[in-house]
Amino acid sequence: MTLTDIKQFTVRRSSSEQSCAGILPPAGHFIGGTFVPGSSTQLIDVVDPTTEQVITSVQAGTAADVDVAVEAAVAAQKSWGATTPKERSEVLTLIANIIEDNREAFELIESANTGKPRTVAEDDVSSAIDTFRFMAGASRTLTSMAGGDYATGHTSVILREPVGVVGVITPWNYPLLMAAWKIAPILAAGNSIVLKPSEQTPLSTLKLAELVAGRIPDGILNVVTGQGRTVGQRLAEHPDIALIALTGSVVSGQAVAETAGKSVKRVHLELGGKAPVVVFPDADLRAAAAGVRNAGFWNAGQDCGAACRVLVHESVAEEFTEHLVREVGTLVVGAPGAGDDVEIGPMISRPHFERVKESLAEAKDAGLQVAIGGSALEGTGYFIEPTVISNVPAGAHIATHEIFGPVVTIESFSTTDEAITRANESPYGLSASVWTRDSSLSLSIPKQLDFGTVWVNSHLVLACEVPWGGFKGSGYGRDLSLYALDDYSRTKHVMINHSA
Ligand code: NAD
Repeated sequence: MTLTDIKQFTVRRSSSEQSCAGILPPAGHFIGGTFVPGSSTQLIDVVDPTTEQVITSVQAGTAADVDVAVEAAVAAQKSWGATTPKERSEVLTLIANIIEDNREAFELIESANTGKPRTVAEDDVSSAIDTFRFMAGASRTLTSMAGGDYATGHTSVILREPVGVVGVITPWNYPLLMAAWKIAPILAAGNSIVLKPSEQTPLSTLKLAELVAGRIPDGILNVVTGQGRTVGQRLAEHPDIALIALTGSVVSGQAVAETAGKSVKRVHLELGGKAPVVVFPDADLRAAAAGVRNAGFWNAGQDCGAACRVLVHESVAEEFTEHLVREVGTLVVGAPGAGDDVEIGPMISRPHFERVKESLAEAKDAGLQVAIGGSALEGTGYFIEPTVISNVPAGAHIATHEIFGPVVTIESFSTTDEAITRANESPYGLSASVWTRDSSLSLSIPKQLDFGTVWVNSHLVLACEVPWGGFKGSGYGRDLSLYALDDYSRTKHVMINHSA
C-alpha cells in the first residue's frame, strides 16, 4: 500500500450554525462589578471564523479605561487581600459552580467565537471548572517556611502575602480556559485583577463577568476589552499594577516584558511552543501515531503544546509515517454545528489562515513531501486540511517555526545524541514528548530535554496539580499547581528582637 491509497479525512459543512445571539454578554468594560461604556466610541468586530460573519462588537478600550479599572482593583484588593483562605476558596468554588450551571452558554459562545468543535469547547469548559475547584482547595493548603531563631535573641516569621493588583492578558486559542488559569490562582492568592482578553475572542470572558457580577466582591475581577498595543501596553506600564501575566506570542511577551521593566514589575509569561515528539525505534509506533493524531490536531493545532514536530528514528520513519497518515485520514474537519464527530475547526482569523497557507506554500516550494492534506478548504470559513509533511530535512523553516495550525512535520534521526541535540535546537522550550518502551531512556532522555513539560508515551495530557510553563523563548512563570500560587504571592520576612 502507498501513502496515496490511504483514506483522506472527512469534511462536513453545516448549513445552519447554532446561534449564540440570545446569550451574548453586554458589550462594555466590566469595572467595579458592573458593565460600563468605554471612553472611546471605537468598536472592535468579533467574527465567527466558521461563517466569517460578525457576531457582535466590543469596546476598543483606551489607556484611560485601564486606569479606571486599576483604580477599582486597587480599592477592592485591600479587603479581598485581608480575607482568609477559606473565604477566598468559597468565592472560587462559587465561580466554578456558576460556570458549571451555565456550561451550555459557555460552550456555544466559545464555539461561535473560535470555531472550535463542541467536543473541544466542552473540554475547555470542564477544565476551566476544574481549575477553579483545584485552586479553591489548593489555596487552603499553602505553607511557608516554619518560623525559627536564626540570630541570637531574634525570631523570624515568614508571611505569604498577595502581590496586589495583577494585570492579565489572554490569547484567543482557549479564551475561557486561559482566563481561568490566571483568574483562579491570582484571586486565590488574594490579589485583584484587570484582565484584557484577546480582541478576537472576548465573549466568553465577558460572559463570565456578566454571570459573576454581584455574586463575588465588586472590583476583584475587572475586564477591559481592546487591542494589545493600547490596553495591553497600559496594563504593562501602569504603576499600580504589581505583576503582569501574559499568555500569547513571543513578540507580545517581549513587548510586555520591556515595558514592565521600566516600573520593575514582576512578569509572568506563557509564550509559544514547537513541541518535538521524539520516537525511538523500540516505541509502540501505532500508539505514537495515535498520540500525534490527538495532540497534534487538537483545537486544529492551535495549541502552544501541540505535538507538531516529529523526530523519528530513521529505521522506523517510513512505518511511523504510514501509521500517522492513516490516523490523520480518520479526522473529521468542519463547522461546530456539523456533527458531534467533528474534530477540526477553522483557523481563528483570516490573517492567521493566510499565514498558515503561506507556510504550506513555502514548504511545497522547497520541494517538501506532503503526505496528506496540504491545502486550504474551498468555501466559507478559515479551514485548513489536516496536514502531514514527511521527510523534512534538519533546519527546515516549517519544522522550526510555530505554525499554530493542523500541520505536523516528520524529520528522522540516526543516533540518540542527534535526537536530543535536534530536539533542543529550538528557540522554544515549552513541551516535548518521548516515545520508547525502554525504561532507562524514559528517564534519561527527559532529563536532557530543555522543555518545561516532557511526556513519556503520551502528549498534551494536563492536570491542575502539575505545573505548566516553559523555558527559553517560551517564557517563564508557571500556570496551574501550587507553583502558580507561589508566582502570584510574595514572601515577607518579619524578624522580632525579643532579647531586651
Ligand atoms: P498574541 O501575542 O497575538 O496575543 C495575545 C494577547 O496579547 C492578546 O490579548 C493581544 O491583544 C495581546 N498583545 C499583543 N501585543 C501586545 C502588546 N504589545 N502589549 C500587550 N499586549 C499585547 O497571541 P495570540 O495570537 O492571541 O495567541 C497565540 C500565541 O499564544 C501562540 O504563540 C501560542 O503559542 C501562545 N500561547 C501560549 C500558551 C502557553 O501556555 N504557553 C497558551 C496559549 C497560547
